[in-house]
Amino acid sequence: MNILYSRQPSARGEIRPVLLIHGGAGPRTTELALQAAQDYRRGLQDALDSGRSALVAGQSALDAVCAAVMVLEDNPLFNAGRGASLTREGTAELDAAVMDGDGRAGAVAVSRYARNPVLAARAVLERTDHVLLVSPTAELAAGWYLATVEPDYFVTAHRQKQLDEVLQREIAPSKSGTVGAVAIDASGGVACATSTGGMVAQAVGRVGDTALIGAGSFASSKSIAVSCTGEGEAFIQGVVGHDIAARVRYGGATLEGSTRATYDEELAGRGATGGTIALTPQGEALIAHNSNAMFAGHWDGDGDHSAVYA
Ligand code: ASP
Repeated sequence: MNILYSRQPSARGEIRPVLLIHGGAGPRTTELALQAAQDYRRGLQDALDSGRSALVAGQSALDAVCAAVMVLEDNPLFNAGRGASLTREGTAELDAAVMDGDGRAGAVAVSRYARNPVLAARAVLERTDHVLLVSPTAELAAGWYLATVEPDYFVTAHRQKQLDEVLQREIAPSKSGTVGAVAIDASGGVACATSTGGMVAQAVGRVGDTALIGAGSFASSKSIAVSCTGEGEAFIQGVVGHDIAARVRYGGATLEGSTRATYDEELAGRGATGGTIALTPQGEALIAHNSNAMFAGHWDGDGDHSAVYA
């Protein structure tokens, strides 16, 4: 497991806002062949700035993670929202989830009409009695006062080219690019948000770990907020987000120790790669991956330090 960023808990009793984001983990060359690293860094910085503004303005951790993820969904470089990976039929089927430290959660799978799937996930949390809705209609999204688009809004020329190349077996399918954020707000609340187009050339109707609470997305004030990226099937089988949380909560291990144990036992054993961003309500934070590379960034309320990795 490689560590991009690690933060110790804040001084005892002190609450500092913290924001971590990711733009996917995977084979570096596949994603960077699409655009220069500088463009990814700028995209990550824009997302970090948006989430940070929310936290500085005193908004909740849930507001901040949604603000950051929306920016990445709107940026066609990342595998979420516009510019998401395509199914083998050439369609964009988007998954997203949000959760806060009080255990409130919302998710959508196979979303095609909400311009920002992360806001559709938040609407499920705030406006329904449910946790996960599959294939929400355009009418439903509009009824939640969300901006809606035609499904081809999400399809970009470079993703179509990528799909063609994968289907012709000229390149291996990319297993990266999902976006996510975790945050602590000024009141000590935590939240996570994750959004993805899934795997390039995935089957129509396939749902990955992103939309599944406990697998790719999880938050609890009693343990951690975490957002995952990587080979979704392994993250589902290993219930990776919750596995790290349970090790922190019941095992009493550090975030780094818990994350390392989960990577060893649930990912390495399955031959799977990916990355995680996670933090505790006490301010311990970790960006880790076992893939070649990971796009990520952090803003640390202590000293106003921020950095992006691409
Ligand atoms: N975890 C995502 C999925 O399986 C893919 C990714 O992170 O790139 O849908």
